[in-house]
Amino acid sequence: MPKTENEKGYVNIVKGRYKPKGKFHIIEKNQPIFDKDTGKLAGVTNPRDMTYIHSYGGEAIFFESLGKGKLIATRCENEKCETAYKSIFMPFRIYCPDCLRKTNLYDLTETARKTAKIHSYIITHRSGAFNMLNKPIKFINVEFDGVCTILMSYLSYGDPEIGMRVVPIFKTKDPTYTIIDLSFVPEGTPESKLPEGFTF
Ligand SMILES: [Zn+2]
Repeated sequence: MPKTENEKGYVNIVKGRYKPKGKFHIIEKNQPIFDKDTGKLAGVTNPRDMTYIHSYGGEAIFFESLGKGKLIATRCENEKCETAYKSIFMPFRIYCPDCLRKTNLYDLTETARKTAKIHSYIITHRSGAFNMLNKPIKFINVEFDGVCTILMSYLSYGDPEIGMRVVPIFKTKDPTYTIIDLSFVPEGTPESKLPEGFTF
């Protein structure tokens, strides 16, 4: 059942403190589970509706940038880092896994437009609970020139093939501020084929 405004939980940060407002836990009546053959009680359902507060911390800039049409990676710029100096990380890593120093932001948008390729893929016809993507979901692993990691995303148009050139698209209209604001389409896809709210 869709919630009314009074049944939603909202959070703001004021003077460095989280300020929750509204309802974060909603109780619903439970139901018994009876064995139809014996008439005996076997258990109960346990309806729970809760709003989870998920803090992004140092990754917030990555999710905020998706809604602005930017793919922000990070790069180790510690000259003393033995193995990962100038390594670019996408997905975003706040800290370098080799020298453990804080990484710097690195704008990967243009590199992604020019070099993104499907490394591998998997097509999922049945999803788990709370899925928000259209089925079948075409999950793709994306590689970028000069990037030492591989990104998991999904293809929004066409059929994936290993080695296929793809370009990023971003949900710049009414973004969700989650990872599904980023998707990919085959290179050369016309703008008219993009899902609602997405732009190149
Ligand atoms: Zn490093």
